[in-house]
Amino acid sequence: MPDITSPFGGLTIDFGATGNAAPLAAVPVASASPAAEGPHETNVLILGSGPAGLTAAIYAARANLAPIVLAGFQPGGQLTITSEVENYPGFPEGIQGPELMARFRQQAERFGTRVFDVEADRVDFSSRPFRAWAAGVEYRAQAVIVATGASALWMGLASEERLRGQGVSACATCDGFFFRDKAVAVVGGGDTALEEALYLTRFASKVHLLHRRAEFRASRIMQARAESHPGIEIHRGVTVDEVLGGESVTGVRLRDVATGTTRDLPVEGFFVAIGHRPNTAPFETWLAKDEKGYLVVEHETHSSIEGVFIAGDVHDHRYRQAVTAAGDGCRHRCLKH
Ligand code: NAP
Repeated sequence: MPDITSPFGGLTIDFGATGNAAPLAAVPVASASPAAEGPHETNVLILGSGPAGLTAAIYAARANLAPIVLAGFQPGGQLTITSEVENYPGFPEGIQGPELMARFRQQAERFGTRVFDVEADRVDFSSRPFRAWAAGVEYRAQAVIVATGASALWMGLASEERLRGQGVSACATCDGFFFRDKAVAVVGGGDTALEEALYLTRFASKVHLLHRRAEFRASRIMQARAESHPGIEIHRGVTVDEVLGGESVTGVRLRDVATGTTRDLPVEGFFVAIGHRPNTAPFETWLAKDEKGYLVVEHETHSSIEGVFIAGDVHDHRYRQAVTAAGDGCRHRCLKH
């Protein structure tokens, strides 16, 4: 893989596997105000501000690439809707998700990253400089890192939203530990739901698995594991009408799909596991997706377009952890550390 010497203070830029690209052109640093005048030009434009995007920004900034981050509608990403993070290495006492992401951002900004709290709604990857638009402002870059993440799907109940972080969660790995010796419910019938239910048996006194149909969508092996686990009670043919509780979750109101009757199930945790949706909308015509809708990565971090890279949950539906996304964010050869 060729290393190409860049014009930026001796920085080395490696375009990786395909290795046939031209060196990045020197780009003047644009002004700090996103809306004042445009277009905004940069060497590396990072779309997304979760662990992948901000780690890429830290590395790009320290490589004097003066990156711009378009943070998206949910600056900080999925961790900003979780409570305490206890599995991110380096924080033995744990850290609140929003605080962790604020620290990521401070670290990126410390080295000169400009972060704009806008969402890229359109891109043009036809040639360099690549272009992206957010809130009507155009951004141009010699390289783009797509780190737009994935969003957990929610059921759409008002009570679910009100109690999010107070017993309602979309991540058992993140929050399961807080439900030691408590009864919890998981809603969903796919692999994620069954995986979350099995994971929660490590902590919870009882895991109620709630599925709206009789048949699971999950793989047979996961079904067999869930069905045979003594800590899991499966409720088929039920939907959740409401999450109960004032300050925190005290139960869920279930509706029997066949009869329409309702009953209250006492639980202290409610885990929504009805799928994730990768945030790929602006890239539909540019980047390939796999059968699950996630972006396809070639040669570890590349997209099919030279100079456009992919990081984090927007392509990773397997691990979906802050630490794996952060690790992915620094693996871009354009950031050569
Ligand atoms: P999924 O396969 O799309 O399953 C979503 C489940 O949620 C379905 O059972 C669906 O019910 C249910 N659901 C959707 N909307 C709902 C609603 N509003 N109310 C109640 N239930 C609702 O999603 P996933 O489980 O996240 O899996 C996504 C992909 O990742 C799958 O291909 C899966 O195999 C894969 N995955 C693999 C692993 C693994 O191999 N270890 C782990 C996790 C995920 P219906 O069945 O009635 O539609």
